[in-house]
Amino acid sequence: MNRIKQDFSILIVDDDKTNRRILKELVEDEARVLLAKNGIQAIEKATEFLPDLIILDVVMPDMDGFKVIETLKNKRETQHIPIIFITGNTSIEAEEKGLRLGAVDYISKPFHAGIVQARVHTQLQSSAQRKMLDELAHHDSLTGIPNRRHFDEVIEREWRNCMQAQQAITIAVVDVDYFKNFNDTYGHLAGDKTLRAVAQVLKSQMIKPRDFVARLGGEEFVVVLPETDSHRAESVLHKCINAVRELDISHSASNCESCVTISVGCYSIFPDSNSKPLDALEIADKCLYLAKDSGRNRIHSQQSNQAPAANLHLV
Ligand code: GH3
Ligand code: MG
Ligand code: MG
Repeated sequence: MNRIKQDFSILIVDDDKTNRRILKELVEDEARVLLAKNGIQAIEKATEFLPDLIILDVVMPDMDGFKVIETLKNKRETQHIPIIFITGNTSIEAEEKGLRLGAVDYISKPFHAGIVQARVHTQLQSSAQRKMLDELAHHDSLTGIPNRRHFDEVIEREWRNCMQAQQAITIAVVDVDYFKNFNDTYGHLAGDKTLRAVAQVLKSQMIKPRDFVARLGGEEFVVVLPETDSHRAESVLHKCINAVRELDISHSASNCESCVTISVGCYSIFPDSNSKPLDALEIADKCLYLAKDSGRNRIHSQQSNQAPAANLHLV
């Protein structure tokens, strides 16, 4: 029970104070409970806290439950939150309308405590399964860090955020040097272990909350540093290069050092409507090959010239 309670939150929406209290008492062993007394508050709290489940009264003054569900289903952030309707309107038509609008369940008032608890429990179980599948789908199974799919979502979001905030974003591609030789010399299992160690080291250098690293595939990783110009980016990535070298994993078949090293291609840009994240990734990749060509175990960085006029004094 306690594990579930820590993991889940439920938003209860009802204009009647007594109903809110009773429902809260019924479900508070399963999850943290948030309360809203009208539709506007429901939408605000759902958007801010992204609860795992919403129990939604249909009949409320001003904005009824149908209007609330329509609004939530039209918002990208909230459209996946399951909603159980709870209502005194027991007509078949109302139930059908609720389900067609996307509710996962429909409970009639006066409600029976055991039925509310059982249905809420079922929904939270589904939510747990969905979360687990989502975790698996967004993480790399070898290293445990985010995967390419996760990167694709993060870069789209951060690109938009940085464009709106008129801030720079940095994308860097990181590649292990002479890794084919490493596998050939020490074996594939030792190679896997090294990839895990490199992934953890890169992750440990992601200091700011929005700094992000994913495994792109093979022995390549990608770093996203939002609101970061080339100056900070180079400092973070130099630390990555040093930290990998400090792992001191022997690599007798490397042509640049006697231990495992990485090379980094880094591109910083102020995103605008003409630029695209995947083009930036391609430029970072070209920079990586320049870093390889000029000796490996180093960074090659490039920055797009144009800072938005309003920000020129900041850079
Ligand atoms: P460079 O310095 O130019 O990057 O040379 P490289 O040998 O690292 O590059 P190359 O692309 O020739 O070889 C990459 C190697 O990475 C080949 C492949 O066997 C290895 N590799 C890719 N994915 C994995 C993996 O999941 N585990 C292991 N152990 N090796 C992998
Ligand atoms: Mg390599
Ligand atoms: Mg490679």
